[in-house]
Amino acid sequence: MSYPSGDLRDQLAHVGAEAVRSGLVVGSGGNLSAREPGADACWVTATDTWLDRLQRPEFSLLRISDGAVLDGHPTPSSEWRLHTHTYRARPDVNALIHLHPQTSVLLAALGHEITLVTTDHSYYVREVVVRPYVRPGTDGLAQDAADAVAGGANAVILGHHGCSVLGETVELAHKRAFNLEEAARTTAMAIMLGTQAGAIPACPPGYVEAMLRDRAP
Ligand SMILES: [Zn+2]
Repeated sequence: MSYPSGDLRDQLAHVGAEAVRSGLVVGSGGNLSAREPGADACWVTATDTWLDRLQRPEFSLLRISDGAVLDGHPTPSSEWRLHTHTYRARPDVNALIHLHPQTSVLLAALGHEITLVTTDHSYYVREVVVRPYVRPGTDGLAQDAADAVAGGANAVILGHHGCSVLGETVELAHKRAFNLEEAARTTAMAIMLGTQAGAIPACPPGYVEAMLRDRAP
C-alpha cells in the first residue's frame, strides 16, 4: 500500500497512528504539523489529542508568521510555537514531527551519542543535534529548536523531552523520525551488549554521498 496522499491532516493522522502502533511513543506524547504548500499556514494537532485517534477536526490551521488560528480547532497544541518558529527558520521544510520517543531521550540524557549504524539510519537521519532541557510549551523551547535546525539539520533531540524531526514531505519526516528512534534503540542495544558507547561502528561515511551521486540526474 502506498503512503497516504491528499489532505495533510490525513497524512499526519497516519503518522500519529503508526507512531503509537510501533511503540515509538505512548498515546499523547507529541504533536505534528504540515505546511500548506506555498502558504503562510500550517496544520498543527490540537490540544489534548491522542496521536492514534486523530481526526480532521483535531487540527488547527495556524498562520506561520504570527500564530493566528485561521481555521479548524480553536486551540492548537501548547507546543504550537515549535512548529511556526521552525517553519520560519526553514523555508524548505513542510512537515514537523514532534514526538517523545523514550530511547532517543534516554540516551541523550545519559550523554550517549546516537550512532547511525545502518544504511537507513544514515541515509534518512544524516545528523542528530542534541539540545539541553528547555521547559516544554515555551517560546524559549521553540526558538532553541528552530536555532538548532537553521543550519540544515533535520533531527533534534530536545533534552529530557522529545525530538523535532523535519522533512520536505510528511512521508520523509515520518521516515526520519522512525529511523532516529530505531538508531537510538540500536545504539542502546550495542551498549547493553557491552560495546563502549563511543566505539559503536557507524555506517561507513561514504555511503550517503554515493547514494546521492547515483540518484543525481
Ligand atoms: Zn513535547
